[in-house]
Amino acid sequence: LLIYFNGEFVPKSQATTSIYDHGFLYGDGVFEGIRAYNGRVFKLDEHIDRLYDSAKAIVLDIPLTKNEMKEAILQTLRKNNLMDAYIRPIVSRGIGDLGLDPRKCTKPNVFIITQQWDALYGDLYEVGLTAVTVTTRRNAPDALSPNIKSMNYLNNILAKVEANNKGGDEAIFLDNNGYVSEGSGDNIFAVNNGKVYTPPTINNLKGITRAVSIEILKDMGYEVNEQHMGLFDLYTADEIFVTGTAAEAAPITQIDGRSIGDGKPGKVTNKVIEAFKEVTRNNGTP
Ligand code: PLP
Repeated sequence: LLIYFNGEFVPKSQATTSIYDHGFLYGDGVFEGIRAYNGRVFKLDEHIDRLYDSAKAIVLDIPLTKNEMKEAILQTLRKNNLMDAYIRPIVSRGIGDLGLDPRKCTKPNVFIITQQWDALYGDLYEVGLTAVTVTTRRNAPDALSPNIKSMNYLNNILAKVEANNKGGDEAIFLDNNGYVSEGSGDNIFAVNNGKVYTPPTINNLKGITRAVSIEILKDMGYEVNEQHMGLFDLYTADEIFVTGTAAEAAPITQIDGRSIGDGKPGKVTNKVIEAFKEVTRNNGTP
């Protein structure tokens, strides 16, 4: 595999930075997770916009224009002859000293990694995932907003550890007010009495798959309400599903030991999964 590294394509073994890179020392940097379906990159502009917004929020100047980044991403895919792939652009703060001050890091490092795609949850799309709510809280919408897709994913990792320990396939975050936020790497939706609910993006990542799913649902005639939810709303929903670039749309059939609805992937969930396949088959940047 060839990795894009600051304008060049190099083998994995050469795509290396220093231990003084603040990306390594402090998780100081931003990233994206993007999918290519059949050689076309899905929602590329949206991912690039979010990458630059994340960078803006942490005062990181990406040394490429958005167009150059777009080209670099497409080229990385081509160089590796991949059709169905996961693509991971990363911009780290760059090499500094052991102090925190980012002004010491004069040159951000840009990496783009890609690999052949494998479905994230395997067989679980048919039976549904088990989820647990975790004690780690999602960031507040202040300076370190959950809207920033930063390289500092410790709360997501702690959430995953907690889910693993409790035997769950996925973790569900609450925010500091106790409102439902999102999964460790995906957004969450509930269906109740034929209406769809999802938390507003003030307390979660502005998921690109979330936005696509809302569009799909509205096109199918469903009412989608972006509103805060409590745990009660999850436990008593008819259906729950999560959405993300890696997860696509995936049913959650149990949360904290409560069966959701009849304990099987729901009708609306399955419609979203099918419609998403159709959308990803017919869209994307070649
Ligand atoms: N929430 C978190 C914390 C994520 O890391 C991701 C993955 O990118 C998502 C949600 C889903 O966002 P998207 O659909 O843009 O991949």
